[in-house]
Amino acid sequence: MKMYCNKCKMEVEPVMETFNSEFYTNDKKYKYRAFRGYCPECDSLLEEDPHMNLQSKDKAYRKAEGIITVKQINEIYNMYDVTDEKLADVLGCTCEDVTNFRIGQDIPTKEESDILTKILEDQTYFKSLMQ
Ligand SMILES: [Zn+2]
Repeated sequence: MKMYCNKCKMEVEPVMETFNSEFYTNDKKYKYRAFRGYCPECDSLLEEDPHMNLQSKDKAYRKAEGIITVKQINEIYNMYDVTDEKLADVLGCTCEDVTNFRIGQDIPTKEESDILTKILEDQTYFKSLMQ
């Protein structure tokens, strides 16, 4: 992915580097692997790649808190004949929340995540919720 070098005044294919960084959410510190790019022409540090760093932060947060991943949430939809409405009903949240969990726009709470994880792992549990 190309990035803009202010010094060379052009788009360049950056030399990417990863480094350990941290961020705070709700006063709690999380460590993650951050990415930054250098210009191959002049070695200037380019802007951080916000998209890659967001993904990396999201991953670190979910891992530290034991929150279900977007991929796992989508597995629920592959496994069961379930709609956003049904899951919203089970979780006690809005349909819009569930849609956002599914596309990774929002992160479920630990409680919601635990229910989703249990649904994924335990078909009997899912059936009991649907009765
Ligand atoms: Zn440059």
